[in-house]
Amino acid sequence: MDIIPNEACTIQKLEPEWYNPYVARVDMLRLDMLHPVISGNKWFKLKYNMAHAQEQGYSSILTFGGAYSNHLIAAAAGAKAYGITATAIVRGLHAKDELTPTLQACRDYGMELHFVSREDYNKKEDVAWLDELSVRYDHPFIIPEGGANKWGRAGVGDIASQIPANYTHICVSIGSGTTMAGLRNALNSDKIVLGYAPMKGGTYLADEVAAVVDADKNSHMQVFDNWHFGGFGKWNEDLLHFMNDFHSQHAIPLDVVYTAKMMYGIEEQILSGYFPPDAAILCIHTGGLQGNATVKGKLIY
Ligand SMILES: *Cc1c(COP(=O)(O)O)cnc(C)c1O
Repeated sequence: MDIIPNEACTIQKLEPEWYNPYVARVDMLRLDMLHPVISGNKWFKLKYNMAHAQEQGYSSILTFGGAYSNHLIAAAAGAKAYGITATAIVRGLHAKDELTPTLQACRDYGMELHFVSREDYNKKEDVAWLDELSVRYDHPFIIPEGGANKWGRAGVGDIASQIPANYTHICVSIGSGTTMAGLRNALNSDKIVLGYAPMKGGTYLADEVAAVVDADKNSHMQVFDNWHFGGFGKWNEDLLHFMNDFHSQHAIPLDVVYTAKMMYGIEEQILSGYFPPDAAILCIHTGGLQGNATVKGKLIY
């Protein structure tokens, strides 16, 4: 499948005045540059799901997400490229009244949108409900929210092969934890993998990640939720200011939902001496820039 013919991503060095003299190195793996729509980690989580669906002869996929979901838009674009139809179960009945730019783009890619109440949406892992959906939508291949399954984790493992051995700390923003788990499994166990949750109370994700990480890789990882800025999708002027500053310094656009909060947290950790002085940190830019539509006009990029 050549929707993304070359998965190799740039590793960009950040300007050293940012982290000197606290750590040895801070670089960023620019997964956001992969593709304008299917950016970041989403392609890696979807590609083996799509390939599996196609191999097994499915003519459609069905998956789940909210009105701003980077996963849904990537699934919509990916399915279109694979020539299979896509159905989305969208969280929240009100989302139907005025489509977000994300949902509009999904529909433009040909994805069928079905809106359900939050109550129904919460049954998204309930086998009986999935069976019901399967019958209702003509037996599609069902991909869980966020691509959180073994094919998703295996795909993320392909990101690990782009990470040179000389980094000590690998930092990634987390939603479902699939990317962190896939990386933890695929990386050498001596690397420290740090996850940054963009929602309140996100440390529960540490257990979710641990549950799907191989037992011998289960150490050297930690989840932080200190930098949620009020909750998932929430932000304040301080965060926007940080994003504009970061862009001025490094010419890298961060997204307001995930990567901006992670970088803000990493900067605080660096300045407070959390990392040892010889740390070589690789921050993964997981993409998601379409999510900045909600703060359009407030950013310099
Ligand atoms: C979806 C997403 C994440 C979270 O990935 P998970 O595998 O669900 O943990 C992180 N960053 C960005 C930009 C995303 O779109």
